Amino acid sequence: MTAFNILDDLPRILGELRGKIALVREDLNVPMADGRVSDDTRLRAAVPTLAALSDMGCITLILAHFGRPKGKFDAALSLASIAAPLAEVLGRSVTFMAEPSRDALAALPAGSIILAENSRFYAGEEANDPALARSWAAWGDFYVNDAFSAAHRAHVTTEGLAHILPAFAGRSMEAELRALDAALGSPKHPVAAVVGGAKVSSKIDVLVHLSSRVDHLIIGGGMANTFLAARGVNVGKSLCEHDLLATVETIFAAAEAANCTVHLPYDVMVSREFAPNPPSLRSCNVHEVAADEMILDVAPASVEMLGDVLKNCATLVWNGPMGAFETPPFDAATVTLAKTAAALTREGSLVSVAGGGDTVAALHHAGVAGDFSFVSTAGGAFLEWMEGRELPGVVALTRAKV
Ligand code: ADP
Ligand code: MG
Repeated sequence: MTAFNILDDLPRILGELRGKIALVREDLNVPMADGRVSDDTRLRAAVPTLAALSDMGCITLILAHFGRPKGKFDAALSLASIAAPLAEVLGRSVTFMAEPSRDALAALPAGSIILAENSRFYAGEEANDPALARSWAAWGDFYVNDAFSAAHRAHVTTEGLAHILPAFAGRSMEAELRALDAALGSPKHPVAAVVGGAKVSSKIDVLVHLSSRVDHLIIGGGMANTFLAARGVNVGKSLCEHDLLATVETIFAAAEAANCTVHLPYDVMVSREFAPNPPSLRSCNVHEVAADEMILDVAPASVEMLGDVLKNCATLVWNGPMGAFETPPFDAATVTLAKTAAALTREGSLVSVAGGGDTVAALHHAGVAGDFSFVSTAGGAFLEWMEGRELPGVVALTRAKV
């Protein structure tokens, strides 16, 4: 049993589905380059739900936002241009409808898939205006939220509609919620969290939340420098938030109180300049960083130690690269640790969930994104979930459970 209705519950709750009108929130906010979709990941994520509803004979109206039009019409941000690429990925026709109505939708053949205009052209969308929610809800018979990546926003299409219509999680939403639950909701212990990236300041809430949920907290990336500094290490010219040493102390204390072991690198890759393959590159113990050097990656001995931690864990949640992975060779620790996690996942000893814009890019760079149990592309929603926050779009689905 899930805590929310899924598409498999539709017949039980709504009976005959043929000709019923589904309002489906998808994330179609795809990156564009030269007028073309440059990454169709989000379009592909919409396919299972749209195909299932169409196969059931429903008339589907897709609701989605595109860019940030701030409540006004903006021809450059019309979703009209996404209908064709979506149809291509879906292998079925998708018709754009600028001004839907219940009558217009009801007149369509069973199985039709229609794309509505950018929801953010309407100021009431982001304000979660109840009047707008009622007028859009009147178009359909039920609501499906398939956009986890927008679930941290309480907008009409992500939250408001769930209060008015029978509400269901789409296939992608369902998969994401199941994976996240397996990683932090009710995970198999021991659980390890890898947290990296540039700064402690952007992830304080993540670190605090994880310290009370996981058994091993592995700190890498630039933020490890601040943790090392709090431990009395001189980090030279490294990126380091010296004003956050007290915050780091509270994270150490919270972890200790919760029996969570904090793992920091003990050897690091340093150089005097931040450039590809710099001549001054060397590895050293964290206590030997010179005043004019920068820590840019974790060194091999520590990476091996961190890999051994993963070998003894059943669950891994990962956000943030271990080093400045865009600049070789400072991708080495991230790539090696990602390969270790991928191998353990393939062997079946580890459930691995990762997310975050740069993290996903780093896993693709390491060639192992497909080997993780689940890779979330949800960005902001993924980070808020890592902070232990309730996401309004998910809460609304949970409340709608029947
Ligand atoms: P995500 O997008 O996955 O949440 P972040 O945005 O928090 O990840 O962090 C990614 C950035 O952190 C990358 O641009 C990377 O270059 C940077 N970074 C990692 N380690 C270091 C380091 N030691 N020094 C400076 N920058 C680093
Ligand atoms: Mg980032």
